[in-house]
Amino acid sequence: MAERRAADEPRRIVRCPGCGGDSVYALTNPYRPFCSERCRLADLGAWASEGYRVDASPSDDDPSGDEDEAASGAA
Ligand SMILES: [Zn+2]
Repeated sequence: MAERRAADEPRRIVRCPGCGGDSVYALTNPYRPFCSERCRLADLGAWASEGYRVDASPSDDDPSGDEDEAASGAA
């Protein structure tokens, strides 16, 4: 039973995006398409840091001009 299931499972070797080595792209590899947990975590870390950098750009952090004008008009 188990043998038949293993044989029926599609097994492909792909290139690991993390290290460029061989990676088993199958259900038995939870880190696919990476070859190992290390490569997967490293890739996620890179994405996270990059996203943080992009998201750190200030857009609504300059409350000036409008408030000053309103105060001037009121007074
Ligand atoms: Zn790898």
